[in-house]
Amino acid sequence: MSTVDVDLSVVGAGPTGLYAAYYSGFRGWSTAVVDALPEVGGQITAMYPEKDIFDVAGFPTVRGRVLVEELKKQADQFSPTYVLGDQAMSIDTPEGGPVALTLASGTVVRAKAAVITGGIGSFKPRPLPAGGEWEGRGLVFFIPQPDEHAGKDVVIVGGGDSALDWAHMLHPIAKSVTVVHRRDQFRAHASMVDNARALGIELLTPCEVTAVRGDDWVSEVEVTSKTDGAIRVLPADTVVAALGFIANIGPMAEWGLDLEKRHIAVSTSMATNLPGVFAAGDIAVYPGKVPLISIAFGEAALAVNNAAPIVSPELGVFPGHSSGESN
Ligand SMILES: Cc1cc2nc3c(=O)[nH]c(=O)nc-3n(C[C@H](O)[C@H](O)[C@H](O)COP(=O)(O)OP(=O)(O)OC[C@H]3O[C@@H](n4cnc5c(N)ncnc54)[C@H](O)[C@@H]3O)c2cc1C
Repeated sequence: MSTVDVDLSVVGAGPTGLYAAYYSGFRGWSTAVVDALPEVGGQITAMYPEKDIFDVAGFPTVRGRVLVEELKKQADQFSPTYVLGDQAMSIDTPEGGPVALTLASGTVVRAKAAVITGGIGSFKPRPLPAGGEWEGRGLVFFIPQPDEHAGKDVVIVGGGDSALDWAHMLHPIAKSVTVVHRRDQFRAHASMVDNARALGIELLTPCEVTAVRGDDWVSEVEVTSKTDGAIRVLPADTVVAALGFIANIGPMAEWGLDLEKRHIAVSTSMATNLPGVFAAGDIAVYPGKVPLISIAFGEAALAVNNAAPIVSPELGVFPGHSSGESN
C-alpha cells in the first residue's frame, strides 16, 4: 500500500488520458496516470494497434501503435507517474480536496483535481453464437498482429467499422477475406463498404455463420443465407468475430457521478457533478457528443485547463500557446 501525491490524477491511459497527461505537464503540474491494463493506449493498444487511423488531425494516416507511442512520448516530456495494471476502485472528494482515488492494490492517488478518461471501461468481445468453442483455435476477436494471418483464408463476422477495418487490413496479405453480416445494411462507414466491394472483398449479406468446423484448428465455416436458407461452406483458417463489445464501466458506476447510460455527463468545461473531477474522451457525454479520438484530444485539453483554477488558483484557464511561455 502506498500513496501517490500529485497535482492532477488521470484515470485511464488511453489516447485521451495520455494527452491529458501531456497537457497537465505542459501546465507545470505533476501528474499520475492510472490504468487497469498493463499497457498504455486503451482501446488502440488492446484492439487495433496495427490498424491505420485516417482521421486524426495532422496525420493523413497513422498506425494505431505509432499514435500511442507518439502520445506517450509527448506526455513523457513531463515525466508523469504511470500506475498501470491497477484499477481505480473508488473516489473520495472531500470538501477542500484532495480528490483521492483508491486503487485495487490499495494504493491511494491524491490530487488537487482528477480527469476521468476511462473510455468504455473494461470491455470483452461479444461471443460468436455458433462456434464460440473455437476460441484459441482459429477464432479470434482482434487482429493485433495482421502478419499472423498472411496467406490464410479469413472469414470476418460483423458489419461494423471493426469488421470492415480488419477486412481492409488483411485483404492485401490474406489468401482470401470474406465478410459475413446478418443484415444488408452495414453499420460501418459507407465508404469502407464501397471500397471493400471495389477491392473484391466478398461481402455475404444477409447471412449468418451457422457452424464452425475443423479438427484441432478451424478449417471451414458454414454460412446460411437469411433470405433463402441456402448454405455455403467457406474454407477458413481464421474466423474473426467482430460483433462488438460488452463494455462495463465497473467501479465508476458507483462513484456518485451523474451518468447517462454508461457515460459521465459533463458540462461545457468537461466538469462532472463531483467537485474537482472532470471527464473527457469516450466516457464523457454532452449534447452533440461524437466519440472520436480527434475530438477527445480537445476534450482532454478543455478538462485539464478548466482544472487550472482548482490546481493552481493563480493560473487562468487559458494556458497560452505552446510555442510561448506555458503560464
Ligand atoms: C476497432 C476500433 C477501431 C477504431 N477506429 C477509430 C478510428 O479510426 N478513429 C477514431 O477516432 N476512433 C476510432 N475508434 C474509437 C477510439 O479507439 C476511441 O474513441 C478511443 O480509444 C477513446 O479513447 P479514450 O482514451 O477516451 O478511451 P479508451 O481508449 O477506452 O481508454 C480508456 C482506458 O481507461 C481504462 N480504465 C477504465 N476504467 C478504469 C478504472 N476504473 N481504473 C483504471 N483504468 C480504467 C481502460 O483500461 C482503458 O485503458 C476505434 C475503436 C475500435 C474499437
